[in-house]
Amino acid sequence: MKCDKCNNKAIEHIRYSGAHLCAEHFTEFLEERAKKEIRGIKGRAAVALSGGKDSTALLHFACDKIEEVIAITLNEGIKGYRDESIKIAADNCRALGIEHVIVDLKKEIGFSIDDIFSLYEKRGIKHAECSFCGVMRRYYINKVAKGMDVDYLLFAHNLDDMAQTALMNITHNDLARGLPPYSGRVFVKRIAPFKWIPEREVAIYCFVKGINCHIAECPYARVAERNRYRSAVNILEKGTPGARHGIVKSYDRISKLFCREGEIKRCRECGEPTSREICKRCEMANTLHDLKNSPDFSFSEEV
Ligand SMILES: [Zn+2]
Ligand SMILES: [Zn+2]
Repeated sequence: MKCDKCNNKAIEHIRYSGAHLCAEHFTEFLEERAKKEIRGIKGRAAVALSGGKDSTALLHFACDKIEEVIAITLNEGIKGYRDESIKIAADNCRALGIEHVIVDLKKEIGFSIDDIFSLYEKRGIKHAECSFCGVMRRYYINKVAKGMDVDYLLFAHNLDDMAQTALMNITHNDLARGLPPYSGRVFVKRIAPFKWIPEREVAIYCFVKGINCHIAECPYARVAERNRYRSAVNILEKGTPGARHGIVKSYDRISKLFCREGEIKRCRECGEPTSREICKRCEMANTLHDLKNSPDFSFSEEV
């Protein structure tokens, strides 16, 4: 099959648009959509970098299109997974010649995600690693970005992520949550340049550009609620090409009607912006310390 725009061989058939594109025109098609999301931004941008395919692709895209870029990584402490991806993230930053800040969760709150997992296992509490990761990543990446005079935070959420989150929020009757990158609740402006780009296309982009990224699934992903929504979105998209775009566009329109910018207070414990008395990060850290220090904890640790 030939490319619709030139005589070269097509490498991908875009089902929702019907187009067949060669490597060069595929790259152009992807970058044009991502460029729309960063149009007009000026100043310093930070990429929230994990080393996985989405954020590493975003890092390369951003370095190419934005003048001043740095990268911020949260090391959640997941042995055999995050340590590998951080090494790749650092290699990419070095190759691109950009500053890379790594925040270590264990140093910050005294627990890594591995510690949290084993603590919860021992206490027989339902796993919630993904919600911990999400809260901690948002908190620390924003905090570091503010400290480094960053004007824009770039997150690598792709179209599949956005559609899954939209369905998840609807299922939980939580329209006010908005879609990543959750605007209005924090001070550094957040942008998701890949918001309209399917996950598969980001993967092809990495391949075409020869980007070195970490390909592995988080060992805790199997317990994630998100997996159910991933399957649901895939089924919808297969039967109705363009379903993901429809879900995200509709959600954006609906949530704009319901989303009120809540009053921003300062967390009583850490002073960071929050809509509550104590921010989610501090609440989670307090719960973990309580769990660890409760008398029957050491008891169950022996089992
Ligand atoms: Zn072409
Ligand atoms: Zn706090």
